[in-house]
Amino acid sequence: MLSVSDAQAIILNLVQPLDRQRDIEVVDLLTADSRILATPVTSPLDFPHWDNSAMDGYAVRYEDVQHSSTEQPAILEIVEEIPAGYQPKSTIQPGQAARIFTGAAIPAGADTVVMQEKTHRQENRVSILDAPKSQEFVRHKASFYQAGTQLLPAGIKLNASEIGVLAAAQCPQLSVYRRPRVAIFSTGDELVTVDQPLQPGQIVDSNQYALAALVKESGAEPLILGIVKDDPVALEKVINHAIAIADIVLSSGGVSVGDYDYIDKILESLKAKIQIRAVEISPGKPLTVATFPSTDAINRVSPHSALYFGLPGNPAAVLVTFWRFVLPAIKKLSGITEGWEPVFLKVRSHDELRSNGKRETYLWGKLHLIDGVYEFHKAGGSHSSGNLINLAQTNALAVLPVGKTLIYPQEEVEVLQLSNG
Ligand code: AMP
Ligand code: MG
Repeated sequence: MLSVSDAQAIILNLVQPLDRQRDIEVVDLLTADSRILATPVTSPLDFPHWDNSAMDGYAVRYEDVQHSSTEQPAILEIVEEIPAGYQPKSTIQPGQAARIFTGAAIPAGADTVVMQEKTHRQENRVSILDAPKSQEFVRHKASFYQAGTQLLPAGIKLNASEIGVLAAAQCPQLSVYRRPRVAIFSTGDELVTVDQPLQPGQIVDSNQYALAALVKESGAEPLILGIVKDDPVALEKVINHAIAIADIVLSSGGVSVGDYDYIDKILESLKAKIQIRAVEISPGKPLTVATFPSTDAINRVSPHSALYFGLPGNPAAVLVTFWRFVLPAIKKLSGITEGWEPVFLKVRSHDELRSNGKRETYLWGKLHLIDGVYEFHKAGGSHSSGNLINLAQTNALAVLPVGKTLIYPQEEVEVLQLSNG
């Protein structure tokens, strides 16, 4: 059976990032947060746009004040007041100064700003009580960057700081990658939707909802295809549809070895290449990953061949395999150039953690900050893969490698940190 790390490598290898020419859209800056930049952004402007003051104070000529002190202050005539946003009118002559405020443009003739705290004003005169350094508190035009400088490379996620940079450079619209499209359907004769009355033997299809939320959180667009019966004809139809409209397809259930587990057989009949059939992971062993020859799909929206994940049916296994295998694939597909793989931290375990040692085992729980150090607290109750209730509020998965059967309380453990803290 494949190890988790081999499976991860195979999956990432199968993913082609979206195309930086074809798979893009233009969005307004106000809606660009969390999107992935598709084209590098170059500044049309110098920054700062012009010499301006970093302080409230007085704009002066350095040579007038270089020997100033409390005992022998230079006394200058104030010829203008320059609030932020106004263009200075005068040129500062020897013996003159301008009252200036933070962010205001430095007037011609002045080269230095003396902070207000180092001055004493009397009507239209100011005494400079301490000699400044030459050019002190002047933010020079283009000193941070010049017009033509690349501000942001392609392939990064736009968060608040990047949005601010883009606004300062007057970039009202941006070219970003379109959201990856992820088709989702659930399989099983026993499944009903959240609003259908339950008959004996039936269960609610929770996987579809959990997966839709995970896909949205990842920045991709979920395409909800509903519940499909354990019926080869219906399954073949939905798979054909899904691979035609999506970049990634997620089904849950029907990949185990039961008589009604049809997914692998149908994928084979559709000429898919089954890349992975099972992974040494708990929960989540029956995991199918398949690709289709790109010629299979007619009217493909994406130029890429869809990547198919047949996830197990058990709700906990669905979440764990999504976090461990599907999320990295969506990230690589999305155009982001780094940080695809999960983040693992070494932390202290609060609880005893057990596994049978046969598969890489993921136990869910919560990271707590104790005296500035993270501690993993295993969720109470059963960690059976069919148990959903204690998955609520999970923000980390503790990982026990193959062969490791026990981690004692206070021992170090690796955890996969989830973003839904
Ligand atoms: P399967 O892999 O199809 O044999 O399903 C394994 C287990 O997961 C069974 O107990 C199913 O009832 C359960 N299950 C399958 N699909 C879902 C779903 N969409 N939502 C919740 N539980 C499911
Ligand atoms: Mg089933």
